[in-house]
Amino acid sequence: MKISSFIQKEADRCVKCGLCLPHCPTYQQLSDEGDSPRGRIALMQGLMQQKLLPDEKVQTHLDRCLLCHACEAMCPSEVKYGELIKETRAALHSETAAPAGRVAEMMQRFVTERDHRRHLSRLLRVYQSSGLGWLARHSGLLRPLGLARIEGIVPKLGAALPTQDDYPPIGEQKGDVGLFVGCMGDSLDTTTMHAAIQLLTHLGYAVHLPQDQNCCGALPLHRGDLKQAEALANENRTAFSDLKIDALIYCASGCGSTLQKLEQAGSNGTPVLEIGQFLAQIEWPEAVKLRPLDKRIAIHLPCSLSHLLHQGAAPEALLSKIPGVKLIPLPENQNCCGGAGDYMMRHPALADSLREGKLRQLDIIRPDILVSSNIGCALHIAAGLRDAGLKIEVIHPVTLLARQI
Ligand code: SF4
Ligand code: SF4
Repeated sequence: MKISSFIQKEADRCVKCGLCLPHCPTYQQLSDEGDSPRGRIALMQGLMQQKLLPDEKVQTHLDRCLLCHACEAMCPSEVKYGELIKETRAALHSETAAPAGRVAEMMQRFVTERDHRRHLSRLLRVYQSSGLGWLARHSGLLRPLGLARIEGIVPKLGAALPTQDDYPPIGEQKGDVGLFVGCMGDSLDTTTMHAAIQLLTHLGYAVHLPQDQNCCGALPLHRGDLKQAEALANENRTAFSDLKIDALIYCASGCGSTLQKLEQAGSNGTPVLEIGQFLAQIEWPEAVKLRPLDKRIAIHLPCSLSHLLHQGAAPEALLSKIPGVKLIPLPENQNCCGGAGDYMMRHPALADSLREGKLRQLDIIRPDILVSSNIGCALHIAAGLRDAGLKIEVIHPVTLLARQI
């Protein structure tokens, strides 16, 4: 297997101390060394040294990694595990790419083809509002078609985003920002995008939202498909290249690591920031007042926000601007919920068992609302809440802030 010398050296920096093991969600669930960070690094070394073949067993251990980065945060040797697993998956993808299954093919089209995604969203709105959804669920047709799980995850869709590139500020202009929408923002999570536009314009920013932007590329990157991830990054680079903006902002924390590569790759030095990070560092105009809210809000911290972006304190700091609100960080927030991009579709049993801990906590706390900064986690947890009959609304923190303006 072709692997760069950087990756070989990085793998050798693992001293096999095992301190990362108790923090790894797949090891916690399966108690198998092959499903631990240390075990996976050993497998990668075996592949590189051609002592191991990339057979199904080896690939399954590597594929079960959630890319949650919990191990990296705990490693005393600061091994860059995330880089190791991404490059290994890319090498395996180019050498042993297996034919994609039905759901994987659907996900791939959804992520890469903007027009197809928007068309599908329109059909989904009709499906949800016409009673067809009820019929499909109760006819039992979805299961044999392999669509039952995906149907259970898709939320009630919000209003479509207008095909408008520019939104002027309300009141005195403080600057210009680009808004990255991504594959979820223009389909399953338009509610968060409407809220982000409302909030940013009220805070004095002109918001620019080029229509020809596309998915950030995180999903293909996690699968090891570097070619597709790079093609998507190029589309986004082109879409935002002509804009004169103070920052490029994204709402789904899971897009963070791939989008920050755009910054490193030279988007004219424009900072690429998660929306909570941006809102925490700007001055809020005196005129913008948030209405009090007498509700209990649980805060879920996605791994991407805490382990990768190191912004775990941002949601609580921001939401504490709302007078009267009671904020409750979810216990064991450091544990992955199992959503992890399309992991919840590829490894449903493991993803659901990782989610159990979150549902148990929410059943005890019974908040009015759960906020999560990553749409993948929000969809996965919300589906679990619906199945468990727990009526807890799940929204992005900016949606809550925008509601209180
Ligand atoms: S990845 Fe880090 S913490 Fe885990 S076994 Fe290797 S050196 Fe130890
Ligand atoms: S990234 Fe997460 S799932 Fe993967 S080895 Fe590290 S702790 Fe385990």
